[in-house]
Amino acid sequence: MKSVEVIVHSLYEKGIKNGNPLLDKEALLSTSGLEEGQIIDVKSKSNQFLGRGYYGIQNKGIGWILTSDPHTEINELFFEKKLKAAIKRRSELEQQNETTAYRLFNGEGDGIGGFTIDCFNDYLLIQWYSKGIYTFKEMIIRALQNCISFAAIYEKKRFDQKGSYVEDDDFVIGKRGDFPIIVKENGINYSVDLNDGAMVGIFLDQRDVRKAIRDKYAKDKDVLNTFSYTGAFSVAAAMGGSKSTTSVDLANRSRPKTIENFQINAINLENQHIMVEDVFHYFKYAVKKKLLFDMVILDPPSFARSKKHTFRAAKDYSNLLKEAISITKNNGIIVASTNCSTFDMKKFKGFIFEAFDKKENRFEIVEEFQLPFDFRSIQKLKESNYLKVVFLKKRN
Ligand code: SAH
Repeated sequence: MKSVEVIVHSLYEKGIKNGNPLLDKEALLSTSGLEEGQIIDVKSKSNQFLGRGYYGIQNKGIGWILTSDPHTEINELFFEKKLKAAIKRRSELEQQNETTAYRLFNGEGDGIGGFTIDCFNDYLLIQWYSKGIYTFKEMIIRALQNCISFAAIYEKKRFDQKGSYVEDDDFVIGKRGDFPIIVKENGINYSVDLNDGAMVGIFLDQRDVRKAIRDKYAKDKDVLNTFSYTGAFSVAAAMGGSKSTTSVDLANRSRPKTIENFQINAINLENQHIMVEDVFHYFKYAVKKKLLFDMVILDPPSFARSKKHTFRAAKDYSNLLKEAISITKNNGIIVASTNCSTFDMKKFKGFIFEAFDKKENRFEIVEEFQLPFDFRSIQKLKESNYLKVVFLKKRN
């Protein structure tokens, strides 16, 4: 494909030269006439070549630089090389029988912003973040076929307004799966459906956190898992020998999906409680009933609106933590997690200090997690390293 020259504002020149591949919404002098998927040669005002990439509008920006070398063509071979390198980087995961679900290709972290690939046993899931990258779909799939064997490919098109999911039959190629399938993560079974809306049943970026909960924190503990979705953290806790788990999520689907995840691990349901309700309502109930937990897990979405509540992680995390603190035993653990990309670990810790200060509770940070290695991110783009998880011990 022929490339089109575009000029960047001088403000963005330095960032691009320093290796930031994301083209900000305001980065280009003009975008008129550019079509999604257009290969662009990004130049400075003084006509210096800065990089080659593509135009594609996503909520983060309007395109990605893919190479700083003017002689590199963006073609099937280019995609194949990046995919091969990404697969090689994960060979340690590929060889494990204990873990069969992980991220195979992480967008800009693996050299091409705009799409990711996850594997779930021998099924692949591609998530597309702009119409622009979607125009390369056939090329990318052909390249993928040259790198790896698979039963089938599914996709999530995440380029509706504000990056939301486009409802569709998500099957792309291969032999349709008989979903749900059971994948393994560090020996724990999880149920996954690649063709049931925006989410598949598990968030793979929390693998290390689930393992820590099982191996180091859960034994003999009463665990509260809020925003529990399919109960993945609860299952990890139960596998680690928790005394009880309580999973709270307001989505109706969470009950059957959580039960299923317990059952496929042969966990006795007797001490696993599932509450389908608003977390903020549950906190009030727990305080009234004087319930106290040894461990409280907080993993809210960055933004959520329920009937009574709007929750924005960037604004409301301290208040959420305060609620959790009030129902955690002394010396108990709070797992504070957020996937919000608009603030970093330092700011997140600020929210934590704020929550504890005002309550006059003391705490200590016992462990921290960010993205696992298969969710490769680049330092130049802070928001690509979005996951922040802090294990806190409450002291009196
Ligand atoms: N912690 C989960 C992922 C959370 S996804 C895991 O590790 O798998 C976010 C979940 O929060 C969704 O399932 C959504 O239904 C739920 N949710 C959003 N707002 C909520 C609220 N106010 N109360 C309870 N659940 C809520």
